[in-house]
Amino acid sequence: MVLQTLDLLKMEIPLEEESVVLSEDVKTGLVLVDIINGFCTVGAGNLAPTEPNRQISEMIDESARLATLFCEKKWPVLAFLDSHHPDKLEHPYPPHCITGTDESNLVPALQWLEKEPNVKIRRKDCYDGYMGSFEEDGSNVFVDWVKTNHIQVLLVVGICTDICVLDFVCSTLSAKNRGFLTPLEDVVLYSRGCATFDFPVSVARNTKDAIAHPQELMHHVGLYMAKGRGAKVAREVSLGALKST
Ligand SMILES: [Zn+2]
Repeated sequence: MVLQTLDLLKMEIPLEEESVVLSEDVKTGLVLVDIINGFCTVGAGNLAPTEPNRQISEMIDESARLATLFCEKKWPVLAFLDSHHPDKLEHPYPPHCITGTDESNLVPALQWLEKEPNVKIRRKDCYDGYMGSFEEDGSNVFVDWVKTNHIQVLLVVGICTDICVLDFVCSTLSAKNRGFLTPLEDVVLYSRGCATFDFPVSVARNTKDAIAHPQELMHHVGLYMAKGRGAKVAREVSLGALKST
């Protein structure tokens, strides 16, 4: 058998994933990172997939499943939407998700969230949703959301696993260690609810100033690095037996 690069990588940095059961006894908040047209909908912009992509489709399906579950229970949901001013771009990426365009709006499967009372929408103009939650007066929308809702566990899904999702998880875990996020205890990354983009080395080699970004490999690395910061990585997320009232 010839081992592929991904198999070799998984042997070198194996990732143990767990099954997480959500319970009504532990206050859990769902964070959706950038599940917007500009990153997910075929042909929607400079950073959108150019053809249907299995990892991105599964991420959308699983995120919609969890969002539905959280909204039925009236549990807190926070959605970050990447939204840039046209004069303030994000190096090294080409213009994307400009405020006011459909690129920076939730994908069709999640647009209904905008009308749900338990859902908070936060537009951000940087990779990291934690940094993007700061207001000019120094307050932080994400920190306030965690505290107001007494969130003990964060369940994180979205795109890109190794960029905006990872950056948000890293900042959140550092802030938690500094005592900024009480009562938060755990950050769980749901692997099937995360995705990243595909830019194979064969294409990057022929593209000026581009760096390769093979999808499966970078997705795995993103999850692995989040785990190295203390996040849990879950392969399955389900709802536990409900309390009888
Ligand atoms: Zn951006």
